[in-house]
Amino acid sequence: MKSKRAQSAGLTDFFLFNTLTRTRERFAPQAKTATLYTCGPTVYATPHLGNWRTFVFDDLLRRFLSYRGYQLIQAMNLTDVDDKTIAGATAQKVSLAAFTDPFIKAFHDDRARLGIEDAEHYPRATEYIAEMARFAAELLERGFAYQTPDGSLYFSVKKFRAYGLLAHLEDQELRPTGRVKHDEYEKEEIADFALWKAWDKEDGDVFWPRDVQNQPASGWPASIPKGRPGWHIECSAMLRALFGASVDLHTGGVDNIFPHHQNEIAQSEALTGKPLAHSWLHVAHLTLNGEKMAKSKGNITTLEDVVKEGFDPLDVRYLLLSAHYRQPLDFTEDSLKAARGARASLRDAAQGLKIVSVSSEKGLIALQRVEQALLDDLNVPKALAVIHTFAKQVKADPTIGGGKEFFEALERIFGLGILEELMVPQKVKELVAKREEARTGGNFVRADELRQKVGELGFRIEDTPNGVRIFSN
Ligand code: AMP
Ligand code: ZN
Repeated sequence: MKSKRAQSAGLTDFFLFNTLTRTRERFAPQAKTATLYTCGPTVYATPHLGNWRTFVFDDLLRRFLSYRGYQLIQAMNLTDVDDKTIAGATAQKVSLAAFTDPFIKAFHDDRARLGIEDAEHYPRATEYIAEMARFAAELLERGFAYQTPDGSLYFSVKKFRAYGLLAHLEDQELRPTGRVKHDEYEKEEIADFALWKAWDKEDGDVFWPRDVQNQPASGWPASIPKGRPGWHIECSAMLRALFGASVDLHTGGVDNIFPHHQNEIAQSEALTGKPLAHSWLHVAHLTLNGEKMAKSKGNITTLEDVVKEGFDPLDVRYLLLSAHYRQPLDFTEDSLKAARGARASLRDAAQGLKIVSVSSEKGLIALQRVEQALLDDLNVPKALAVIHTFAKQVKADPTIGGGKEFFEALERIFGLGILEELMVPQKVKELVAKREEARTGGNFVRADELRQKVGELGFRIEDTPNGVRIFSN
């Protein structure tokens, strides 16, 4: 279902590049409400800007779908048990939850600062352990998995005929190198991977089932020993618990293609025979000096790092969105400064608008061009070119028709905080008007009192050559 605006504008369909088929495909959700599963953060550290590039992209996708009138349910999982979280908790000699909780909080705090809307679900892996155990047990029963002498379960790659399609391994002879226990590995190691890892002493206090009370009502599968899930089965099980066999869209960074998403497909499709996701979207890496930003490489920058240098989180959002999502983006201080300048320029244009009731045609034509760029596999660079051209026209003529509609739509789609002034609550506007009166009447004490009241409501007044401007603090 599309919005009236989209229909009346006669716009084309939404095309997205599907990693599975390597083609641009028309987005066609299976039901009235579209479904999106996003591989979320591994909560063993504060997310870095590379992670945020992928999550900001998800937010753009989400906002654009909503703008186009689609209903959407999104789940973004939190990986709170895997090799890395266990290693972290062990090193700090704390429980897994005590170790991961602060990183989950940091994730949500920074997410809010970056203007990323709430997903409908943030499932934690540790809340779905029984589902994971049952999933692994089913794969064993159906002959897709086998058990090693310690009781661990491995997925047998050669039993799943379509293994390798997503990661484009079909051209190579699929010759598994053996078994791989760790969660992450390279393409050279096409191997049977762990579904369930029997407890060993390195896992310390991390194991399931915990005790009788914690066991699911339907019972713990007899074939699953004391232990913990492999990383890949976590997403397969959470996705199934929340959405059933399939989702419309599944997203992540390109590093998720192999082995994680390839393995999710193998596990889920082996059981259901249905496509796990109709479309797979992958975000290219944020790099630093051409190298992937990654904690393991020690080259990460967090949001807090750049905020400390005086940047607004939304400048970061602008930068992360500005490149096409399938193109790598190199992070530099200069590019962040340029993003800050570009966002300020849009704010100036939006806030300099003089709203008069004339035809809104010019703004709507520009908006249609922005939409067309986004309908074409979310081509943000093309959309930004249109946006900045229109912003220049607004600066040349602040009474231009449709300016308000244009920037309001932009705010919904991109969430760049360029329209704060137009979103100021009525109460604040009244106080500002009274302060103007007091100031122009020479009553500066009263004007200062009113400015303070505005401040108490979370807003800030600036007197500029173009008049008073209001910002949120
Ligand atoms: P992780 O916390 O490592 O599980 O990663 C969470 C998400 O961030 C995954 O979708 C990754 O693919 C993505 N990601 C990690 N590093 C980068 C990067 N440098 N650029 C873009 N996305 C990334
Ligand atoms: Zn995942």
